[in-house]
Amino acid sequence: MKIGIYPGSFDPITLGHLDIIVRASGLVDKLIIGVLKNNAKRPLFTVEERVELIKQVISEKLNLPEIQVDAFDGLLIDFAAKENASIIVRGLRAITDFEYELQIAQTNHKLNAKIDTVFFTTSVEYSYLSSSVVKEIASFGGDIRQFVPKSIVQPIYDKYKSVRSI
Ligand code: ADP
Repeated sequence: MKIGIYPGSFDPITLGHLDIIVRASGLVDKLIIGVLKNNAKRPLFTVEERVELIKQVISEKLNLPEIQVDAFDGLLIDFAAKENASIIVRGLRAITDFEYELQIAQTNHKLNAKIDTVFFTTSVEYSYLSSSVVKEIASFGGDIRQFVPKSIVQPIYDKYKSVRSI
């Protein structure tokens, strides 16, 4: 059984992420979406909330193979090995992603040569899209409907309401 891991912060999941999930699913028997705790990035959503948002979105998609959504901490390569994954999936949006991603992929391959990183180039309609852009727009009450799956639009606005009321 071929197992792949798609790691990221997913704070929150966007249509760009979902596009990669759907396309990467075709390569493997099981795709694990690894949600990085990454407190250094001071995420808007807790890791548990990010996992739940992704599960919600996945549950609405038909015809996907087995998908598992898990939080993880520590080294990605250790998590991948523990889950018996043979590939790590990453998305490349622009040349600015490339340098960083190349370094990480080569380092990971040095750490464990049994695991390879596979890159998907972004679909053109999502090449500009990032979680940060979505958060920036939502924080000002702008329209994010064309950037994230429908079911998580309201939870994102609600999060900003609750953050403001603290
Ligand atoms: P990270 O903090 O690990 O970069 P992100 O959640 O920002 O986590 O991204 C996870 C992965 O998804 C990365 O490989 C990133 O390049 C990719 N990705 C993010 N946005 C898009 C998009 N719009 N199109 C394609 N890939 C994307």
